[in-house]
Amino acid sequence: MYNKDTINEIADVVLKILEYESPAYDPEEAVTKLHGQILNDIIDECEDARIERAPENSNFKFIIHLNNNKPFYRTRFSLAHELGHLFLHMGYMTDRWTTAETFQDSIYYRSYNRKDMNYSQEESEANEFAAAFLMPKKQFKESYINNKFNIELTAAEFQVSHDAAKNRARNLGF
Ligand SMILES: [Zn+2]
Repeated sequence: MYNKDTINEIADVVLKILEYESPAYDPEEAVTKLHGQILNDIIDECEDARIERAPENSNFKFIIHLNNNKPFYRTRFSLAHELGHLFLHMGYMTDRWTTAETFQDSIYYRSYNRKDMNYSQEESEANEFAAAFLMPKKQFKESYINNKFNIELTAAEFQVSHDAAKNRARNLGF
């Protein structure tokens, strides 16, 4: 279990590893840089994405299965969400990684199959990571103020949905 500050710090470290300095950040490119593979092979409309370790003989370290029929901003958020599971729950780039299992993940599973507390905890942690990755605290605050608290302009700058930017602003105390 992580608190929000820790999740934001971990997202900042990941952005630093990726040498990402100014938004908008591209989670798809990040997956490639982190030696992950994206497969656009989810056709169940209830499911957005899920992540698993790649097989030992693979050239990749992990695989994100993606539903490519979702809106652009939602796909960006889903990919960043899966990166959250990768770092927070599968322990990528730490000792925990060697024992990490497949992380079954989707709105479908989230809503219907897994109602235990740990799961929803992990889901909200992955969402916090996604917001922190796409809209890092310091940069978001600066931009939002520079944009005179205009959500549309700020959302466009970070390439996130209006709702995602609004949530982030609220969670950061605006
Ligand atoms: Zn998830």
